[in-house]
Amino acid sequence: MHQKPDGDAMGSTLGLYHVLQQLGHDVKVISPTNWTNFLDWMPGSKTVIDYERNTESADQLIASADWIFCLDFNTLGRTRKMEPSLLAALGERILIDHHQAPQTEAFAYGISDTSKSSTAEMVYDFIIASGNQDKITTDVAECIYTGVMTDSGSFRFPSTTANVHKLVAFLKEKGLEHSKVHDNIYDNFSENRLRFIGNVLLNRMQVFYEYNTALISIPAADLLKFDIKTGDTEGLVNYPLSIEGIKMAAIIIDRGDERKCSFRSKGDVDVNTFARTYFGGGGHFNAAGGQTTDSLEVAVEHFITAMKENKDILATYQF
Ligand code: 5GP
Ligand code: MN
Repeated sequence: MHQKPDGDAMGSTLGLYHVLQQLGHDVKVISPTNWTNFLDWMPGSKTVIDYERNTESADQLIASADWIFCLDFNTLGRTRKMEPSLLAALGERILIDHHQAPQTEAFAYGISDTSKSSTAEMVYDFIIASGNQDKITTDVAECIYTGVMTDSGSFRFPSTTANVHKLVAFLKEKGLEHSKVHDNIYDNFSENRLRFIGNVLLNRMQVFYEYNTALISIPAADLLKFDIKTGDTEGLVNYPLSIEGIKMAAIIIDRGDERKCSFRSKGDVDVNTFARTYFGGGGHFNAAGGQTTDSLEVAVEHFITAMKENKDILATYQF
């Protein structure tokens, strides 16, 4: 899975893990970095190896693996410090992913499909297509549902196809308790986080109506003051999109070592290209990310300049 895994990275990977295990394979799951607390309840999460904390043993596992499934990322750079070991690995790398612009030469096999809601949906399709639907236990169902739910904005993004709803129906028939998954992911935060969101919306959001754009910028001091952990800022970038007329939202967070950026859009605004062009990142058409080593102030200025350069696209609102 990619660094700082989200619900889809963890859900797709653990879902596949449980199925491959039932098929008798010796499977290990490695995350390039630590992950947010709200994924700790997931079946199998206790067995996930944090690469940064167990580099030597993880390197041995990677070197000796016959197959390496790469899930929810499509360029090896998304695994940060793990990249050299993945590149040197003798086993076949297999890609299952739904982001744009895959590094195809890095993978022996794979499926890359940007029309898919989530990598978890693709893992589900893979399980079904390989005739292993009887291996979808409630553990597998919870993992897959987590990935699909989080990446589809709880089944509201345009990527939520009939196939996605059929998948949910199938998982329900297998005994999935979807409310439990929702509570574990979305109703499991600290009081501090809610007050932090209050502060962000009140004091850290700028709205540029002329450009149908809103920007949230968060100084490192806020993260310290409200004791904000990995994952507590996830989803914040979506709030400005609920303002009537806003079609691009951005967040820039001062993480200390870098400024992490996230972009979300509606309709015809391509934030994948925006993130690639201005912030060394990428992702999907309507959801992308990037980062910069510039200071927060410089990054904000850079964003505003970039926004102005795209006035033609942003100023006209159409679906
Ligand atoms: P988020 O804003 O939630 O971090 O990321 C949104 C989407 O863009 C995710 O699908 C994520 O995988 C992708 N993404 C985030 N940051 C980067 C980046 O730096 N490079 C690339 N290529 N994709 C990114
Ligand atoms: Mn995903």
